[in-house]
Amino acid sequence: MPASTRVIAALAILSLPGPALAQTTPASPPAQAPQTQAPQTQAQRPEPDPHTPTHADILRGAYGPDRANNDLLYYHLDLRVDPEKKFISGKNTIRFRMLSDATRIQIDLVDTLHIDKILLGSTALKYTRDSGAVLIDFPHTLNARTTQTIDFFYSGHPIETGRFGVFTFKQDSSGHPWINTACEGIGASMWWPNKDQWRDEVKDMDMSVAIPNGLVDVSNGRFTGKRDLGDGYTQWNWHVHYPINNYDVALNIGNYQHFADKLGPLTLDFYALPADLDRAKRQFSQAKLMLQAYQHYFGEYPFIKDGYKLIQVPYAGMEHQSAVAYGNHFANGYLDRDWTGVGISPRFDFIIIHESGHEWFGNAVSAADPSDMWIHEGWTTYLESLYVEFRWGKPDALKYLNALKLKVRNLHPIIGRHGVNAEPPIDQYFKGALFLNTLRSIVDNDPRWFKLIHGFYQHFKYHNIMTEDVVAWFNQQTAPSLHQDLTPIFNQYLRHPTLPTLDLVFDDSAHTVRYRWRADEPAFAMPIRAGDPAHWQLLRPTTQWQTMPTPLTRDTFQVPTDLYYINVNKS
Ligand SMILES: [Zn+2]
Repeated sequence: MPASTRVIAALAILSLPGPALAQTTPASPPAQAPQTQAPQTQAQRPEPDPHTPTHADILRGAYGPDRANNDLLYYHLDLRVDPEKKFISGKNTIRFRMLSDATRIQIDLVDTLHIDKILLGSTALKYTRDSGAVLIDFPHTLNARTTQTIDFFYSGHPIETGRFGVFTFKQDSSGHPWINTACEGIGASMWWPNKDQWRDEVKDMDMSVAIPNGLVDVSNGRFTGKRDLGDGYTQWNWHVHYPINNYDVALNIGNYQHFADKLGPLTLDFYALPADLDRAKRQFSQAKLMLQAYQHYFGEYPFIKDGYKLIQVPYAGMEHQSAVAYGNHFANGYLDRDWTGVGISPRFDFIIIHESGHEWFGNAVSAADPSDMWIHEGWTTYLESLYVEFRWGKPDALKYLNALKLKVRNLHPIIGRHGVNAEPPIDQYFKGALFLNTLRSIVDNDPRWFKLIHGFYQHFKYHNIMTEDVVAWFNQQTAPSLHQDLTPIFNQYLRHPTLPTLDLVFDDSAHTVRYRWRADEPAFAMPIRAGDPAHWQLLRPTTQWQTMPTPLTRDTFQVPTDLYYINVNKS
């Protein structure tokens, strides 16, 4: 998802009660993120974590025994959407494999939606609702290694809430229904029953969406056909050929006009409202360049059997898998402004570049818990800079990345609490990307860096991973060239709020400089280039003082802070 909406939401939380957060789809350019770039000292204590998990958070966030006893295989979400009554009804067929013997599983559905029945074959199952969890009891033990299928029937009026609305019944400017979903964070179980967590994904999925004749539904995956139901409704069918995050599952219902293109074997399908069709045809042409850039760095678009789709929506944007939601006013930059303020953002459409980047990081490579969401947002923000580099070269990419520093707060660790469905702070975007740029500088060999990130993506695509997996992989791959344990470096940037500080103490009469890292990680030992920009010297500071001779002085000794995101303290 885009970041600034999160900034707005974060600011809104400070002053507004929960319900006022509804409909935060930004209508005007969002305020600049607060520029809390004041240098921090080690003595400053981080703010306490404001997130105190509730019972519901723990039920949603924990991967408890009633979830861990099964492995998802397949969903078929079969829904009817009534725009006039703002009512939905239908079922999700859920297929799963038991991993251990059990009589109970946990599925999730918000308690404002009605459960009509839950069937195992023709047997109605008993269940208990506990906030958003539905604990389903089976009349006999489901044995390990067996495959089970249940049909979960439900109905009700979905509630419009949260930053992106979850499920919105709007009208377009000509009065046609315009109905969209977007539920990242607040959860897919706000509008359909599923195992609402990040660790486990179905292997593939079907969606059948019945809507009034004349409207179009664009969902995830490949369109497989539509069927006139004979009662004024038409069913639109989509098949997702890949694992998919629950929050990526989407409906986009409206009077959509369709146009198409191809990039080699990849189908590109675009959907916009009639009034915006010409603008969409112009703006959406950027999708090809975006795909070429990301395929260059990471390899083939990950959902080629499903195709790439870009769909106009009434909110800023969302990375719905193979069906990217777009609401950036058909203009470059982000919501009509220069997102990074250095003249580079106006060259491209931020939402096309950012949300589509999530196809690689977020959708193909996914975090297994929201705590480690920087794997989605830090990487995708870094991908924005790779797009800039692909188009306009490394100096502009560095300019773009370094402008992100104004958005970093350094108040909380990027990685949040596991198992409580807590969303990490905004730093996961900008500091996450700046950390990856720092990691590139540690590798200090661009061909090797590009090979590394390509290999990283290829190794973990279609998997749900944690930061430990990322660190282990980079340690293993870089060991032969770097001879360096990267773990304390990852930890310092991701698990502490404070940036590492390079202390430099000059003795002009002795022509020496003493240097060390000040960091929370005792073993922090990041190699860094410094000294004379014409021929950088590689320093290997640790948290212990070292001394070296230098002809340079406090004023002439330089540290390339555009390559390493650090504080420098000269004395
Ligand atoms: Zn995002």
